[in-house]
Amino acid sequence: MIGDMYPAGHGGWIEVICGVMFSGKSEELIRRVRRAVIARKSVQVFKSHLDERYAGLYHVSSHDGRTVEAVPIDSLEQIARAVLPETQVIAIDEAQFLPGGIVTLATSFAHRGKRVILAGADTDFRGEPFGPMPQLLAVAEMVDKLHAICVVCGNPASRNQRLIAGEPARYDSPTIMVGGQESYEARCRSCHSVPRRHEDQVELIV
Ligand code: ADP
Ligand code: ZN
Repeated sequence: MIGDMYPAGHGGWIEVICGVMFSGKSEELIRRVRRAVIARKSVQVFKSHLDERYAGLYHVSSHDGRTVEAVPIDSLEQIARAVLPETQVIAIDEAQFLPGGIVTLATSFAHRGKRVILAGADTDFRGEPFGPMPQLLAVAEMVDKLHAICVVCGNPASRNQRLIAGEPARYDSPTIMVGGQESYEARCRSCHSVPRRHEDQVELIV
């Protein structure tokens, strides 16, 4: 991955790891964090919507005993307040849930000489750009788009299939669902299904 190759000593920069759910964004983010820790950089990791069950995944230890753990955040203010002046690498997972101000915040960190690594889903369940991700992709020096495996056909998956009670969620269902009664599958463009209202009407006419 190019994320480890960018030359040091040229000030800060922004890296984005994007792609569908299950494409390995978190794994790749942690891999980069682990290597930064090995390189003796001072690293801080943040994650929006940190689920307690996965908190252990974000615990990175180096062989000489230094550890980094992800800090759960809900707002940009929490990130801005938590980042220490001496921090060299800032990693943020689930960036798609953050407000648009993350673009300015990440840019200001990069201007202050920090390496900023953001991971997030670039598209929502409809296959449309998700939150601040399009702007982050545009301002980043480096972008990696990862793919999962389509659970239907086995081709590379680039879409998040939302299912509600086992059925594809309709286009007008909310971008972020509260309550968690939905589930997701990684699918390719051909196997992705997002029924719209007019498609129901067509079915009725037929
Ligand atoms: P992301 O952060 O992109 O959601 P994770 O890093 O949390 O991804 O998880 C990636 C892991 O998910 C893979 O290494 C693999 O073990 C697992 N996985 C589950 N379903 C799939 C799938 N359909 N395609 C690829 N990997 C999958
Ligand atoms: Zn498919």
